[in-house]
This record gives sequence, structure tokens and C-alpha cells, in this order.
Amino acid sequence: MSSRLIIAIDGYSSCGKSTVAKGLARKLGIHYIDSGAMYRAVTLYFLENNIPIPGPEELQDSVYDFSDALSKINITFQFNPISDFSEVYLNGRNVENEIRTMEINEQVSHVSAIKSVREHLVKLQRSAGKEGGLVMDGRDIGTTVFPNADLKIFMKADPMVRSERRFKELKAKGVDVLLEDVIQNVVGRDYEDSHREVSPLRKAEDAIILDNTYLTHEEQVEFVMEAVRKLALSNSTTS
Ligand code: C5P
Repeated sequence: MSSRLIIAIDGYSSCGKSTVAKGLARKLGIHYIDSGAMYRAVTLYFLENNIPIPGPEELQDSVYDFSDALSKINITFQFNPISDFSEVYLNGRNVENEIRTMEINEQVSHVSAIKSVREHLVKLQRSAGKEGGLVMDGRDIGTTVFPNADLKIFMKADPMVRSERRFKELKAKGVDVLLEDVIQNVVGRDYEDSHREVSPLRKAEDAIILDNTYLTHEEQVEFVMEAVRKLALSNSTTS
């Protein structure tokens, strides 16, 4: 049963959603798709091709037409046995590292607020899930992309703890960054993602909250695995 499951993981920035999602995908033998990587890849394309990115206050699709740009963007995932997960490709080029910079962090919430960008990516995300057997993380997976997901998790953690985790990650990659800038970005993205007009970040009514402020990675995966077991049990008693 678990091989056909669709698991939606949403939550705030730098909550460790992708780490939990990868752990689950491995345990359950299902695919993992990082929907944030798709918004990041579109942002990279916009920056590289000088496509104007409207700020949160600007009118968007009524002024700008992104259809031409979107028609030229092809996003795919390819499994890398060394990193042990599916890496994102933009028009055939592996952009897994390029999409994780502060420059992308600063623009991605503006790009992800654009209605036509969201419509384009939601279509791709749904088509990736049509066979089932998928864990996808993001901001609107349980509310918009897969409102009928078998299991929905909403992750949160103290913003300072999240910022420090992200800061350490960036430092470990050799990125020269200040903790204050990371805090500002994490808090700013949370605000923008929660206040945009289209598919804002919010907990789906039937999502289970996972606050991981004080939890280890193993404890988080176990928390979700327990929910998967309960689901399997309740399905077997009702069928
Ligand atoms: O998850 P990650 O931090 O990589 O996501 C980057 C950004 O992409 C988020 O801050 C948000 O603006 C956008 N996003 C979104 N909807 C999703 C996934 C990501 O709007 N499903």
C-alpha cells in the first residue's frame, strides 16, 4: 500500500522538509520531488535571461506576460546515486548547486507569487504524482497540488533555530554570508509566502503538525513513519 502513497510535506522555510522527505522516500521506496527546487530553477532562468521579476507590490500577470519564458523552461529530475536523490535539471543542465545561492533565495518568493508560474509548475507536479508513490515537499502541496494526498504533514520550527541551521549549511558549502542576512531572508520569505494571493503557505485542515525545533532527524522521520503506519492500519480496518 505504501508504494502508492502520496505524502505532502509543507511548511516554513528552512524547516528541514527536504531532509525528512528524503528519509521517508528511502524508507518507503517511493520517489521524492522537491517542489521548491522547481521554483528556484524558474528563478534562475529569469535571472539568467533578464526577465523582469515583479516585486510583491507590483501588479503581476496583467502587466507582464511570462508565457513565452515559461514555454522555454523545461524542468526535470534525475536520480544521482552518489548524492542518493533526484537532482533538478533546467533545460538539460544540472542546476542543483546554482539554485541554492543567496541571490536565488532573495528572488524566489517574488517569482513564486506569479500566478502563471504557479499554474505551470502545479501542472508538472501533478503529472509527477499521477502514478502515486511520491513524497513532495513545498508550501502548497497539501492545499493545492495534492488536496487528496494520503498523508499531509505541516512542518514548523522556531525561526531562530531554522535560520541558524540554514546559516550552518551555507557556511559548510563555503558561502560567505552573515547570520543577520539569513534571518532576514528566512523570515521575509515566510511572510511573502504566507501573504501572496495565489496558493499562500498555510496548513491544510487535515495536515498533522510536526514542530521539529527540538527533534533530531531520526525522530522526525519516525514521527511521520508512525503516521504512515496508523494510516495503513486504518485503511486495512476500513477495507
Ligand atoms: O523549499 P524551498 O525553500 O527551496 O522553496 C523556495 C521558495 O519556493 C519558497 O520560499 C517559496 O517562495 C517557493 N515555493 C512555493 N511553493 C512550493 C515550493 C516552494 O511557493 N510548493
